[in-house]
Amino acid sequence: MRLPSVPTLIRTFYTISNATTSRLFNHPTVQQTLGSSPFTRGGAIGLKSMPTVPFLSSLFSSSAQSKQMADYPVKKSDDEWRAVLNKEQFRVLRTGGTESPFTGAYDKHSPTTGTYGCAACAAPLYRATHKFKSGCGWPAYFDSIPGAVTRHTDRTFGMERTEIVCSNCGGHLGHVFKGEGYPTPTDERHCVNSISLTFREEE
Ligand SMILES: [Zn+2]
Repeated sequence: MRLPSVPTLIRTFYTISNATTSRLFNHPTVQQTLGSSPFTRGGAIGLKSMPTVPFLSSLFSSSAQSKQMADYPVKKSDDEWRAVLNKEQFRVLRTGGTESPFTGAYDKHSPTTGTYGCAACAAPLYRATHKFKSGCGWPAYFDSIPGAVTRHTDRTFGMERTEIVCSNCGGHLGHVFKGEGYPTPTDERHCVNSISLTFREEE
């Protein structure tokens, strides 16, 4: 039995925080407060609540800025991406979001042949033979197709992690973790959002 890793705990926290934020917005008092100026008298709740939301979004958004600065062969504006991606795909692929654990289409997907490509630009990223069962709640790969995935340092959460993006379009895939002790050839775990991928049966 493997204890949940730190990234897994963080992702769980992320999910809980998202739910908390959404409950916050649905609360009638908060809606009322958000609708008025937080600087007026009687806005005490607003003064306390308002900083929470930007703080959460800055904490949980990924390194979108560094991605925009990098150069990728496929370049589209946010509006162009919105035209070809659904809302959740856009949130994950273009704003560095994370899907909830154990919900993705490819979490428990274990084909023996085939290729996982980028859901945004279709570039081949991982082979079925790279995939392994990590139990972390997201598809896990010990390696990628050479050059298909680019790594960036991600300093959200006050810690340093390695973000992985599609080398062709810069779409956010997930993070890579090393030295966790999985019995794979690389001891690396590419922890990828299912929604960032599409599977093709041919190699
Ligand atoms: Zn891509």
